[in-house]
Amino acid sequence: MDQSLPPLPSRIPDRARFPSFDSEGRISSDAPCRHCGYNLRGLRAEGRCPECAALVCRSLQGHELRFADPAWVARLYQGISCLMYAVMVAFLIAVSSGFLISIMHCRPMVIIALELACLAVSLLGLWMFTAAEPSEVVHQVNLRQSVRALILLGLLPLILFSLSIQWPATFLEPASMIATVLGALLLLLSLLYSRGLAVRESGANFSLIFRVLVWGWGVFFVLILIEEIKEALVPPVAPWGDAYSCLAVLLFIPLIVISLITGVTFRQAIGKALVETRS
Ligand SMILES: [Zn+2]
Repeated sequence: MDQSLPPLPSRIPDRARFPSFDSEGRISSDAPCRHCGYNLRGLRAEGRCPECAALVCRSLQGHELRFADPAWVARLYQGISCLMYAVMVAFLIAVSSGFLISIMHCRPMVIIALELACLAVSLLGLWMFTAAEPSEVVHQVNLRQSVRALILLGLLPLILFSLSIQWPATFLEPASMIATVLGALLLLLSLLYSRGLAVRESGANFSLIFRVLVWGWGVFFVLILIEEIKEALVPPVAPWGDAYSCLAVLLFIPLIVISLITGVTFRQAIGKALVETRS
């Protein structure tokens, strides 16, 4: 055993991005192994991780996704693909629901069941998209874990809503309000988590567009909640007479279009990073 190597802590306190080297060519700052999170401090760049045998030099190339663990980036890609396909199918069903019901004579229950199935598949995609990076070191609850906690909580309103279809209308309002609050939190936290990943993407600048989407959807959900609370307290006078509803509808169309385009292009960027991790 090499006695000159300093004792290696098994985990490091935080993620180091650009490690430094001492005069003998050993890593002199904390640097996590991209594959297992082991602290590579004290090792040479040409060596291998003592924990998982991955090449040390692979972990010293920077924080970008293209240098991350290929299996983890593959999981992100599968997750965002699953999520985007489910969201797009749900969007197409919602847009064509009038045609499906009146021309194709589909029962409204079938449309709702299809939308719920899309929601379940999109939650599964989001679960894969928030898989932990092997080198992740957790000191406190982070965005990724918060999104996963909300996915588990999100299954409850999904079941509640499915069951509430048979219930009297009085049960629908509270169930719909809980689903709106959880859905809003899940969307906003997912966008913030995606923004954190986007910073590590070397191509197009997604960071700004994710910030715009967080603000846009934030305002949208505040308007929706105001509307739901007002409806619960006072019966609506006229269906289109409320400024909040009109503003929410006007916001919804550009927000959904920008979100879909961003999701599709971000999926392509992760796919490109995945190809680069394997090269
Ligand atoms: Zn390792």
